[in-house]
Amino acid sequence: KPAIRIDNLTKRYADPNGGEGKLALDGVSFDVPQGGVFGLLGPNGAGKSTLINILAGLVNKTGGHASIWGFDIDENPRNAKRSIGIVPQEIVFDPFFTPFEVLENQGGFYGIRKADRRSEELLAAVRLTDKRDAYARTLSGGMKRRLLIAKAMVHSPPILVLDEPTAGVDVELRRQLWELVTDLNNDGVTVVLTTHYLEEAEALCDRIAIINHGKLIANKPTRELVEMA
Ligand code: ADP
Ligand code: ADP
Repeated sequence: KPAIRIDNLTKRYADPNGGEGKLALDGVSFDVPQGGVFGLLGPNGAGKSTLINILAGLVNKTGGHASIWGFDIDENPRNAKRSIGIVPQEIVFDPFFTPFEVLENQGGFYGIRKADRRSEELLAAVRLTDKRDAYARTLSGGMKRRLLIAKAMVHSPPILVLDEPTAGVDVELRRQLWELVTDLNNDGVTVVLTTHYLEEAEALCDRIAIINHGKLIANKPTRELVEMA
């Protein structure tokens, strides 16, 4: 089975003024195979975040189907959600929690028993062990992004989705985040990331889907796509 199946997915946002509303996704279909790093590439406004937010259960689709790890998001939303970890674009933490507490709270949210939580291990994986007990508000932007990735992995999902992981970050942090993505993938996690940098998709992804104006315009192994360009 594919890690993610997107089938004729459509989203039209409601227009507060009673108009037709924005068609953000227009019949998009593709599969994300298991085990690789899959890039969803497209310019700003293409519909990438809308697609991710539908998978995350944050936006209701207008039409079509999606399944995650074989679980339909409508019929089996609980199992679908448990099969995916989402790293959102915006950094949202309570500034007075520490990285350790952020991960423990997330573990509690998923009903994972204290003894079974992996907070220390996850802090080590994102190289935040020495910031274990620092207030989140004192962390650098890069540390916060790494903590977000650890938080998304608390329930050990087989799939990790990162929405524009390196938008607005400096070269050094981008390198760190790329390394982290590669490490997770080498540990067997299927990775999906959105980006508007072709260079980033080429560097990290073994397969790239391109969307523009809510439509899928390509879906190929990176090597074939690069040969075409
Ligand atoms: P829906 O109810 O269609 O899912 P949301 O609840 O996501 O829509 O958003 C509510 C309203 O917020 C939208 O109708 C829109 O006016 C506004 N909005 C939020 N984000 C955006 C955006 N990125 N671009 C344009 N409008 C937005
Ligand atoms: P991307 O992530 O590729 O930049 P988005 O999915 O954020 O694209 O946006 C796709 C289109 O839908 C854009 O035209 C955007 O303005 C619009 N849009 C996004 N969110 C909302 C919303 N909540 N309400 C209305 N329109 C939205």
